[in-house]
Amino acid sequence: MKIGRYTLSSLHVQEFSLDGGAMFGVVPKTLWEPVAPSDDRNRVRLSSSLLLISGGGRNILVDCGMGDAWPEKLRSVYAVSPFLLDESLRRAGLCRSDITDVILTHLHFDHVAGAFREEQGELVPLFPDATFHLQAENLRTASSPNRKERASYDPRFVEAFRRHCRMNLLDGGGELFEGVELLVSHGHTRGQQLVRVSGPEGVLLHGADLIPSAAHIPLPWVTGYDIEPLRVLEEKEALLLEACREGWMLCFGHDPRHPACTLRMTGKGVAMDRTLTF
Ligand SMILES: [Zn+2]
Repeated sequence: MKIGRYTLSSLHVQEFSLDGGAMFGVVPKTLWEPVAPSDDRNRVRLSSSLLLISGGGRNILVDCGMGDAWPEKLRSVYAVSPFLLDESLRRAGLCRSDITDVILTHLHFDHVAGAFREEQGELVPLFPDATFHLQAENLRTASSPNRKERASYDPRFVEAFRRHCRMNLLDGGGELFEGVELLVSHGHTRGQQLVRVSGPEGVLLHGADLIPSAAHIPLPWVTGYDIEPLRVLEEKEALLLEACREGWMLCFGHDPRHPACTLRMTGKGVAMDRTLTF
């Protein structure tokens, strides 16, 4: 997919499983099961799909996935598949050292642990040359997490970013690079940033964990992980209405079946129109 100066690709680098009830909050299983089939432990399969934005002398990744630096027990809890980062980058004609920038939507472990590998008990950065862009507010919340989110902000990785990575801590949204803009939202966690790429060909919005999959497009389908579900609903409604009105494409970080989609308005609100692969 081409937008402005950029070539965009969705890199499907990994899959893992999370509890279906946690992914769909108060939505009854009879409704979410047909959309996201669960396994014998009530877990639904999710992808780590990284948005790659290449052009203008930069190769920008949005998030890093779960990665490999996990003990066997957690690998099994989350049914983590092999991390195909290098293979996926190679297919795009790149290697890790070509990545100039990583936009971290937020520091929940499933988005950032893939920035490191483990070597003799130490975390080693996989993108030593990249600058990592993160909202300062999210680093603050990750460094001193509330009790609801404590399990989602693994201090090993939060600390590793501080110690090993070049961080560009941002204070609010706005244009990061020409045609690449950050939109900040707070309902899923404090200081999450969504990425919007705009150009003459159109607009693509990365839904981060505000809209992690196509199944989360209906407004009340919010996750149990959200710290402020009503705020998520309002943030999602405002974005989806604008996206639908303006004809934006929406891409997902966790949808194993739909890398991206177009939207249409229905009697029940905004809905997915067509699946897009790119
Ligand atoms: Zn999250």
